[in-house]
Amino acid sequence: MGNRHFIVIGAGIVGISTALYLQKDGNRVTVIDGRDPGEGTSKGNAAVIATESCIPVATPGILWDVPKMLMDPLGPLAIRWAYLPKIAPWLLRFVANSGEKRVEQISITLRSALVQALAAHKELAALANQSLMIKDTGWLGVFEKDEKFQSYQWDLALQKRRGVNFQVLKKEEIRQFEPSLQPIYSHAVYYPENSFVTDNFALVQRLANHFIANGGKIVKADVTGFEIGAEGPTAVNAGGQSYPCDAVVVAAGAWSKKLSAMLGHKVPLDTERGYHVTLPNAQKRPRMPLYSGDHSFAITPLDVGLRFAGTVELGGLEAEPNYARAQKLMNHGKRMFGELDETGRSDWMGFRPSMPDSVPVISQGGRFKNTYFGFGHGHIGLTLGPVTGRIIADLAAGRDPGLDMQPFRIDRF
Ligand SMILES: Cc1cc2nc3c(=O)[nH]c(=O)nc-3n(C[C@H](O)[C@H](O)[C@H](O)COP(=O)(O)OP(=O)(O)OC[C@H]3O[C@@H](n4cnc5c(N)ncnc54)[C@H](O)[C@@H]3O)c2cc1C
Repeated sequence: MGNRHFIVIGAGIVGISTALYLQKDGNRVTVIDGRDPGEGTSKGNAAVIATESCIPVATPGILWDVPKMLMDPLGPLAIRWAYLPKIAPWLLRFVANSGEKRVEQISITLRSALVQALAAHKELAALANQSLMIKDTGWLGVFEKDEKFQSYQWDLALQKRRGVNFQVLKKEEIRQFEPSLQPIYSHAVYYPENSFVTDNFALVQRLANHFIANGGKIVKADVTGFEIGAEGPTAVNAGGQSYPCDAVVVAAGAWSKKLSAMLGHKVPLDTERGYHVTLPNAQKRPRMPLYSGDHSFAITPLDVGLRFAGTVELGGLEAEPNYARAQKLMNHGKRMFGELDETGRSDWMGFRPSMPDSVPVISQGGRFKNTYFGFGHGHIGLTLGPVTGRIIADLAAGRDPGLDMQPFRIDRF
C-alpha cells in the first residue's frame, strides 16, 4: 500500500501508534524523539480509555469561572498569574468555543473519533501481543455533594444525545458496586463502555518494541528543523544530523507548535498541566477506574499501583511544577478510600497538549502535501492515540477514514 519513508516526530502514544499503522501499510518508518518512548505526557496519565469523554473542557458559563481559576492556585482548574499574558489569546478562543451550539458540535466531532477508539487500541495491542493490557471494566463516576451531581445532569444529557451508554446508580448500590469506597457517596454513574490500560507507560514501550522488532527505527534526538524542497520537507534535522524522508508526521504532543510553524502552520496550541500521585502499596484497589465528580480527577488501579490523576493548571511549558496540587489529589483520595499506605509514593506533572476547542489536530498539511499532524489531544490522548494513528495512515494512503475530518484540520483556526 505504501513504500515511502515517513519520519514521525514524537514517541508518545500518538507518535508510536501512528508509526505502527504506517508500518502496517508497508511504509518505512523512523521515529525521532529526544526522550525514550512514552517519557512525555503519555508516561503519567490516568490510563482510562474514556470513550464517553465527548464534552470539551470549555462549557457554557466557563467565562464566569475565570476569576476563580486565578484566585485558587490549588483549584481543579487554575491559571498561573505569571502566565496569563501569554495564554490570553488561547483563553479568548477557549471561551469563544464554550457556547451551547458550539459545544454541541464539538461533542459530535469528539464522539465520532471516540466511538472508534477502543477498536484501534485493541488492534494495536493484539499486533504487539499485549491484548491483556486492556481491561473492559467500565468506569464509575462518584459524587458526594448533591449540587455537583445536579450540575452533572447537563453533562449526562449531552452524553445521552451523543449515544453514550451509562447507568445512574442508587445510593445503596454504590458500595455494592465498588466496595473499596468509603460510605460517603450519594450519587454515581457507571459507564460500561469505558476501558483502561493496566500500565499506560509500559503500553507505549511495548508498542515501540514491536515497531522496532518489525523493522522500525527509533532515533533519540531533538528535532531542530527541516530541509524544505519545492514539494515540502525532504529531510528532518535532529541532533546535528540530517535524516532524509518522503513525508513527515508531527506528533510531538505539547511541543508541536514550533514544529508546525516550521512547516507552515500557526496553531493555537497550549498546555493544560496535570498531576498524579501513584501509590504502589496503597492497600486499596478498586475493581475499575473511578472518577471523583466532586473534585474532577481519576483514580486507576494500575499494575504499578493506585494512581490519582487529574486537575488542570494553565501555566505553560516552562514553570516549575506545583506539587501542592498533587498533595491535594492525595487528600481527596484519602477521603474516598480512608487510610492509604503511601510507601513508595511518586508524584508527577505532565503537559496535556491542548487546543482551545478541545479537538485534536488530525490532519494532512495545507501547505505541504507530504506533512501530517497528530497532536492536541488534551485530556483524551491515551484514548485517541491509536485511532489517530489509524486515521493518519488512512489519510496518507488515500483511504476514507470513516469520519468527517474537517473539524480536525490543522488550519481550522
Ligand atoms: C494527569 C493526566 C491524566 C490524564 N489521563 C488521561 C486518561 O485517563 N485518558 C486519556 O485518554 N488521556 C489522558 N491524559 C492525556 C494524555 O496523557 C495525553 O493527551 C497524551 O499522553 C498525549 O500524547 P502525545 O503522544 O500527543 O504526547 P506525548 O506523550 O507528550 O509525546 C510527545 C513526544 O514528543 C517529543 N518531542 C517533543 N518535541 C520534540 C522535538 N523537537 N524533537 C523530538 N521529539 C520531540 C517528546 O519528548 C514526547 O516524548 C492525561 C493527561 C494528564 C496530564
